[in-house]
Amino acid sequence: MQSRTGLIFFPAFDWAISKTHPEREERLLYTRDQIFEEGIMDLPGVEEYTPRVSDFHDIARVHFCIPSVRSQVTEAHLIASGAALQLGDAVMSGEIKNGFALVRPPGHHAMKVVHGNRGFCNINNEAILVDYLRSKYGLKKIAIVDSDVHHGDGTQNIFYHDPDVLYISFHQDGRTLFPGTGFTNELGGPQAYGTTLNIPLPPGMCDETMDNVVSNLVLPVLEDFQPELIINSAGQDNHYSDPLANMRFTSKGYGRFTEKLKPDIAVLEGGYGIEGALPYVNLAIILALTGFDYSYVSEPDYDPELFKEKKENVNNVQQTIEYIRKTWDNRYNIDLNKIFGSEKYYKRRKSIFYDTDFINEEQVEKVKRCTNCSGYNEIESKIRDDVKVYCVSIPFYACGSCRDQAYEGYYRAKALKQYDYVFLQDKYNDVCLYFNNESSIEEYTEG
Ligand SMILES: [Zn+2]
Ligand SMILES: [Zn+2]
Repeated sequence: MQSRTGLIFFPAFDWAISKTHPEREERLLYTRDQIFEEGIMDLPGVEEYTPRVSDFHDIARVHFCIPSVRSQVTEAHLIASGAALQLGDAVMSGEIKNGFALVRPPGHHAMKVVHGNRGFCNINNEAILVDYLRSKYGLKKIAIVDSDVHHGDGTQNIFYHDPDVLYISFHQDGRTLFPGTGFTNELGGPQAYGTTLNIPLPPGMCDETMDNVVSNLVLPVLEDFQPELIINSAGQDNHYSDPLANMRFTSKGYGRFTEKLKPDIAVLEGGYGIEGALPYVNLAIILALTGFDYSYVSEPDYDPELFKEKKENVNNVQQTIEYIRKTWDNRYNIDLNKIFGSEKYYKRRKSIFYDTDFINEEQVEKVKRCTNCSGYNEIESKIRDDVKVYCVSIPFYACGSCRDQAYEGYYRAKALKQYDYVFLQDKYNDVCLYFNNESSIEEYTEG
């Protein structure tokens, strides 16, 4: 049987941050024209799907939306994330070999707790897909490789304490670009050390660098980790024409990356070169997914003379790759108490800024350092001193005592009356609880 590639286009006509915002529907319209002009939809094995909507529970399984899922998402968000789930089902049933959700709004800056929009994102489409697949099909190990020029701080945050989800991101150095994170020392919490890997790149790097990172770091790490599924957060703002960033990747480079990575599902993230980049990059990615030749894809203004890397930057990237590779190889031999202390609960404070909605969030995050499972996770979050939230999350493979303690935490927080909202995510039983203190209403969703 011919192996098939599933595509979903969802340009979200009725959703925009503002009329002139770079994250807008034209991002997909030019691509769509290009794909039709090239006759891609007529290629044997290419199948277009219409997206479905994800439901509130699919979102509550991943995010603590304040004050509610309903208040943080629009229909466009439900469709964009639903498109990823649709392709996930099609891959799992064997109907397609791989798929590409060309959707917006994007998602990789949306963290576990959601008070508003960060970096154009409210909810994280890939994370919603990962937890849906784990819940519905019992998958255990999944890898997300993020090729957006911005560090996917939301995806990193969601899986930072989860040893079964490997998150690898290469991106323009956070010292030079939003969101200012994604450094080599961000490696996961004490229960998931090494399953977050960041490769910050100096501005101006070209396709050779992407190829080097993939061949000499991403692929060998994936080979060790043996994920059951690979998801690509397919951001295209590493392209040389992107107006928001400073990298020099081309559509052909993205094609080669996709050919090597062989993602099961790619989900569009950023990319703001509406006419000069997206149509070509998307075309190259689709061709690489289908196994057809992408080498003829070339931007009209491409001039190879303008794509030379600086020697010192090449050396710098090489050192980063070697350092991360060594850290990965040694991940089980590291004395975690030296890094995280030896308390029974690992605790960290975080300040999170929502650049789109101008919200400052303060968080205290606590993880149980359990030896029988990856430990439950508590978050206290507040904004402006007037919204205080308690959240507790039970992982998929939680031990009995972590499950009990997490429920105790939820009921204690509810009884305390000092929080406006109290949440519990029980991934083990696929149940979410939500308590609104003001109205004393408790809601419940399940998968
Ligand atoms: Zn981006
Ligand atoms: Zn446990």
